[in-house]
Amino acid sequence: MVLLGSTGSIGQNTLDIAKRYSLRVKALCAHSNTKLLNKQIMEFKPKFVAIADKSKVKEINHTNVYAGAEGILQMLEAAYEKNEILINALVGFAGLTPTLKASELGYKIALANKESLVAAGKFLKTSDIIPIDSEHFGLWYLLGQRKPKRLLITASGGTFRDTPMEELAFVTLKDTLKHPNWKMGKKITIDSATMVNKLFEILEAHWFFGCKEIDAFIETKSVIHALVEFFDGSTTAHLANADMRLPIAFALLNKIDKPIVPNVNLLHVKSLEFKDIDILRYPVWQLKELLLKKPHLGVVLNAADDEATRLFLEEKIAFKDISKCIMNAMEKFEHAKIDSIDEVFSTNLEVKLFCLNFFKSRP
Ligand code: NDP
Ligand code: MG
Repeated sequence: MVLLGSTGSIGQNTLDIAKRYSLRVKALCAHSNTKLLNKQIMEFKPKFVAIADKSKVKEINHTNVYAGAEGILQMLEAAYEKNEILINALVGFAGLTPTLKASELGYKIALANKESLVAAGKFLKTSDIIPIDSEHFGLWYLLGQRKPKRLLITASGGTFRDTPMEELAFVTLKDTLKHPNWKMGKKITIDSATMVNKLFEILEAHWFFGCKEIDAFIETKSVIHALVEFFDGSTTAHLANADMRLPIAFALLNKIDKPIVPNVNLLHVKSLEFKDIDILRYPVWQLKELLLKKPHLGVVLNAADDEATRLFLEEKIAFKDISKCIMNAMEKFEHAKIDSIDEVFSTNLEVKLFCLNFFKSRP
């Protein structure tokens, strides 16, 4: 396998599966965490390595290092052979170009970088892509030959699910990064708190399963990940202990012959709680219908979120500003036409500039 984002949360879980199943790791790539990357090089002995931050090249203990965003693409080219699998676990819009390149080269793609699909789903051949996301894995597990009536995915509600509404104006970055149910990368943790992550996943489900009847609700214990409603009145649900190694293992292996995670014990779980996604707490949830009607606007949602979460991570804006910025950008670009992949890239830049000016022009 070729693994992009090996030092991240999904990347490390992927290497854990590689170790358990003795899978060959041909290439590794990170942004700047050379300490962990060097450790992974020692353990997995990849033939190729790439680092996005060019200033770090000399710190890497390997003879075949590619550097910069274009270095990642060169490495994909060098490492390609028939039936090679690429795991794209990069975060943000930076993941799109490698997804496009891998698709062009003929890689089988296991995609954790949901931003690729959100921004450019219209231009990706999803039949060549396997999603690494627990909800879409759950949907795939449930969908058989029968035509579904509606797809449902669940949300944890994120860090501030139970925080009094009046406190949301004052929460800090540190508060936001404490997810109640599990540990993930910083951006997806923020995306879960704003509910942007669930909008992303609605779009992901749309591009993967070609369905417009998709909705989500909160299940506080994150035991149920997905449900499928059928026309006859039956509903099936996918239950699993929350552990990304399950979807990763299915994306990498043809046959699963060892347990990946223990089964859910409902007698231990005792009870489950379900809630609507409240638009007062999660203002961006108002965008769901518009996005399902115009899924190509995913590029606008993604760009505004990329820019606003970046500024929030730099502690330049407040938590509630992320949603405000996204709502403004979506209103401004509601009628954007995205007819080519070039327009995905140009719109991405245009929206980011709009968001920067949105914050600059505020009193
Ligand atoms: P992390 O932030 O933990 O990891 C991101 C990885 O990408 C790191 O290896 C990082 O390197 C690398 N990286 C970041 N920016 C760049 C760049 N510009 N160029 C090259 N490499 C880069 O993220 P996660 O693992 O949490 O998430 C990865 C993707 O998977 C996201 O799209 C997320 O939405 C999705 N996902 C994550 C889940 C989870 O449980 N974590 C669940 C479902 C989906 P470095 O460490 O050097 O900075
Ligand atoms: Mg998910």
